[in-house]
Amino acid sequence: MNLPAQLFLDGSWRDSASGRRTTLTNPATEKSFVEIAAGDVADVNAAVESAQRAWESGWRDLAPGKREAALHAVARELREHIEEIAQLEMLQIGKPISDARDEALLGARVFEYYAGAVTRFCGQTIPVGRGGFDFTLRQPMGVVAAIVPWNFPFPIACWKAAPALAAGNCVVLKPASLSPLTALKLGELAHAAGLPPGVLQVLPGSGSAIGDALVTHPLIRKISFTGSTEIGRRIMELASRGLKRISLELGGKSPNIVFADADWRRAAGTSPMSVFANTGQDCCARSRVFVERSIYEPFVEQFVAATTKLIVGDPAKAETQLGPLVSASQRAAVEEFLADARKRNRTFACGGGRPHKTGYYLEPTVLLDVDKDDRCWREEIFGPVVCIRPFDDEAQMICDVNASPYGLSGSLWTNDLRRALRVAKAVESGVLSVNSHSSVHTEAPFGGFKQSGIGRDLGMAAMEGYTELKNVYVEM
Ligand code: NAP
Repeated sequence: MNLPAQLFLDGSWRDSASGRRTTLTNPATEKSFVEIAAGDVADVNAAVESAQRAWESGWRDLAPGKREAALHAVARELREHIEEIAQLEMLQIGKPISDARDEALLGARVFEYYAGAVTRFCGQTIPVGRGGFDFTLRQPMGVVAAIVPWNFPFPIACWKAAPALAAGNCVVLKPASLSPLTALKLGELAHAAGLPPGVLQVLPGSGSAIGDALVTHPLIRKISFTGSTEIGRRIMELASRGLKRISLELGGKSPNIVFADADWRRAAGTSPMSVFANTGQDCCARSRVFVERSIYEPFVEQFVAATTKLIVGDPAKAETQLGPLVSASQRAAVEEFLADARKRNRTFACGGGRPHKTGYYLEPTVLLDVDKDDRCWREEIFGPVVCIRPFDDEAQMICDVNASPYGLSGSLWTNDLRRALRVAKAVESGVLSVNSHSSVHTEAPFGGFKQSGIGRDLGMAAMEGYTELKNVYVEM
């Protein structure tokens, strides 16, 4: 397999202006396997200027039907390369191959959805009081910087690039340093599908070296970021100087609430993968489980039994459910949380150790008897660790759920319709599923309350976020 190893700018491969390169390591083998060009500030300037040229010279004014056709062509190209994309994702971040295939397909599906959105995303006519004719236009912004993380590199790149392009913008995509390969492949395939040079460029490079230059570049009109709350805050501060539009998808500490009247056995059997999928490196991971006291013990027993059956190992095997963590430092950060739990004598119902000698693996870990002040209960761990606590009173439980700076996602299990609606309204989160762990739907808005972010990805809400709303009044 040919590995992309350069920047993809202005429709072609090139080295970075500085000649700098970074090495990628396969987290399952701990072996380095490729050196990738690392962009510099000069490359940021070149990419943004090329995007602006592409926007002004055609993409901005392309007939909607042609833009729709262009995005469908990208989706077709992606569908023809699903296996290659999946293999690259597995190699760079250790994602189990079956998940990597699903996510590659999701990326193609997202391009199809937004191809369809081009001719369905409309303005309004408004009967203004003084008469005349008033209507709104949804206009593209210009050049969008899309900055994405390493945990779902390909789908998140697609769900930023596709709506931004559908709305008529050009995109400079900056992948995480640990996971540039599938983003680069996306740039290459989009170009092969016929997107003109400069419309979608991919600029790998360290966030600390090029992030500020990208965010503050005067031609960047919108920054769409997914990543940590810390970097999101920095981007918001920098963007405020130029009053740039931003959308931020940030961290989470999502609850999983299980009432005694629910099909709690199904909840117990399915909940482990709601936190341990992607080895817990998921902003939606249901890492705080609230269980009504009357079913707490049997629920924990079944949760732990299901957890110990999970297959942790070689991501290349179809049956593997959990791969390694993305890097040695990510595993060390998770192990610090476990050390804190040990220091406080918390109960490890299972897990806590390293299951394999090679690779950045960690066992899925279930912690009990944790206190509300524990780091494990309060902070985003971004690894395979869950805490389960009993609750007695619904109102107090909701206070505890909402006592978090985050508000991204969550699950709620009950068969009482009125309770489901009441609690779903009361939980402070942008996304919530009832009797399910499904958080992300191509067609529905995705994003967070509070410090989990601003703005929404996916659905038609994302199209809104990549356009300016103009009102036109015509005197008659
Ligand atoms: P991160 O460190 O914030 O990095 C995210 C992206 O920002 C990477 O491309 C990174 O580049 C870049 N970056 C770093 N410093 C920057 C700067 N000063 N200016 C501009 N960009 C900069 O986050 P991560 O560790 O990759 O991802 C984990 C976090 O993402 C978790 O908190 C998780 O909850 C969150 N997340 C949220 C969602 C959501 O939808 N809400 C989805 C997935 C992940 P480098 O890699 O080169 O540093």
